[in-house]
Amino acid sequence: MARETGPSCRQCRREGMKLFLKGERCVSPKCAMERRPVVPGQHGLMRRKEKEYGTQLREKQKVKRAYGVLERQFRNLYEEAVRMKGVTGENLLSMLERRLDNVVYRMGIGSSRKEARQIVSHRHITVNGRPVNISSYIVKKGDKIGIKENKRELEMFKDLKNQKPIMPKWLEFNGDKLTGTILDLPARDDIDLNIQENLIIELYSR
Ligand code: SF4
Repeated sequence: MARETGPSCRQCRREGMKLFLKGERCVSPKCAMERRPVVPGQHGLMRRKEKEYGTQLREKQKVKRAYGVLERQFRNLYEEAVRMKGVTGENLLSMLERRLDNVVYRMGIGSSRKEARQIVSHRHITVNGRPVNISSYIVKKGDKIGIKENKRELEMFKDLKNQKPIMPKWLEFNGDKLTGTILDLPARDDIDLNIQENLIIELYSR
């Protein structure tokens, strides 16, 4: 499974925003964006004036890095978003949100998308009762997400019963049963990512 392998905090510093790639560390004072929120490298403190292309490119990189998606996959999602009805940028974000690794993260099963991806690839997750180990799997309205019966006693899932994650309204998770449901498809308002998706569309339409 191809994935972004660069140092996580460096990616946040490059994009100038928290991408929440490291779980609990991201909400602690140890977060690199709290301690040193400048672009990495020798000229990090210099003010840069991005040109139009640069601004569009940065916006795309932010989204790709936040969701941990590589260029080819991202481009494929964009092409699918173009074919769908509605606003292309919103379709693109909606599909990224509906990736199984993101859903597992949003439900609080993994502390970051990276950890969620690992949980999925280790075949701990089921969709409608069947094990699915493809993190790019796109969930649909009504899908039931669960933790495999024989994995529920694993240490990493022990705290889920007591935890009450703040979840977007399109998802539901029952900590006692360790199952969740996709109540609806995510709308733009449900996606708490501070980006201008129209810039990504402009970049790909060049
Ligand atoms: Fe980004 Fe998390 Fe590192 Fe902070 S701790 S810089 S949010 S990956």
